[in-house]
Amino acid sequence: MIALMIEMTGHTLPTVAMELMSLALHMTTQQPSEILALVYGKEAEEGAWRFAEESGVETLGLVWGENERTGMETGAALGEALKERGVRTILGPHTPSAMEIAPVLAVALGLPLLAGVVGLDDEKGEFYRSAGGGKTRLHIAAPESAVITIQPGLFDAAHRADRPGSVTFVTPSSPKGPIELLSTRKGEVGTSNLSGARVVVSVGRGIETQGNLPLFTRLADAIPGAAKGCSRPLVDMGWMPYPCQVGITGSSVSADLYIALGISGSSQHLAGIPQSTTVISVGRDPNAAIHAVSDLIIEADLLPFMEATLALLYHQDKSTPPAAR
Ligand SMILES: Cc1cc2nc3c(=O)[nH]c(=O)nc-3n(C[C@H](O)[C@H](O)[C@H](O)COP(=O)(O)OP(=O)(O)OC[C@H]3O[C@@H](n4cnc5c(N)ncnc54)[C@H](O)[C@@H]3O)c2cc1C
Repeated sequence: MIALMIEMTGHTLPTVAMELMSLALHMTTQQPSEILALVYGKEAEEGAWRFAEESGVETLGLVWGENERTGMETGAALGEALKERGVRTILGPHTPSAMEIAPVLAVALGLPLLAGVVGLDDEKGEFYRSAGGGKTRLHIAAPESAVITIQPGLFDAAHRADRPGSVTFVTPSSPKGPIELLSTRKGEVGTSNLSGARVVVSVGRGIETQGNLPLFTRLADAIPGAAKGCSRPLVDMGWMPYPCQVGITGSSVSADLYIALGISGSSQHLAGIPQSTTVISVGRDPNAAIHAVSDLIIEADLLPFMEATLALLYHQDKSTPPAAR
């Protein structure tokens, strides 16, 4: 059996849910298998109904009440729900929260963990992971059985099923982990939907001061459909919200176009963009590591570059920078 980890963070199903379904269906063409979905997180009940309707597969909703759960508690609960099920492979999204849950789940079920898969080769029976900041691809023989986290945006979403799957709700026995969640604080609302975005404009320390950020915001807003991203130092300094962070400890993006403004290209940042098709980097360091993965390198001072680009986008004179929309 193949199990899917479907994490709800609100009322809508995450885009990656039907992408995982698509991969599971593909895997069943290689080796016939049943598919089971586990829906957890906020609004899990609603999510379970929605996923069963869209996917047509048996769906388990983990319903726990209002309290938020740690990754450890969720991982242990998923393990408990799957223990007697004879699951061969578990597919989850490679997102910050699933990255906390998946290792616990793997330990609970005694399975190996294959994290951050960015591709597969059916003929060779291999999965790919990116390494070396996106410059290298590791080929890994597909394990018989494993917990596998998949980079969002890798597969087309599966088609909607003709008929809904069954839904069952389970209440986990609240296994206690070594970490106890005492309280939670609502973070700043993220304005980004990085994982599904086709265009991402990211800003780094090259922006120099927080006071320059409105210029970045105006530029990103001027590009239709662009999501805003950033490097980690901007989040650490409290200049940008965490949902905007791109990289190994933030979000992974699979954009058609990734524009990096004043970002040097540390391996931790590059780990979040290996699936992006075209990368444009703008900065004043001709030797910045980001250039190695860039299709277009613009060597420039960031502020004049952003002002000039905005002026072009709005067909205005460079001397009269456009006001915020
Ligand atoms: C465990 C761990 C996890 C991490 N996870 C992440 C992560 O998920 N994501 C992440 O991004 N980082 C992460 N980091 C931090 C990472 O190591 C780097 O410190 C960070 O990515 C650097 O951010 P930056 O490129 O914005 O800054 P810098 O490295 O300082 O680069 C700034 C760039 O802007 C250029 N610049 C400066 N001023 C201007 C100007 N006026 N005009 C044009 N260019 C200019 C500079 O030449 C430089 O190239 C992590 C680190 C650790 C240890």
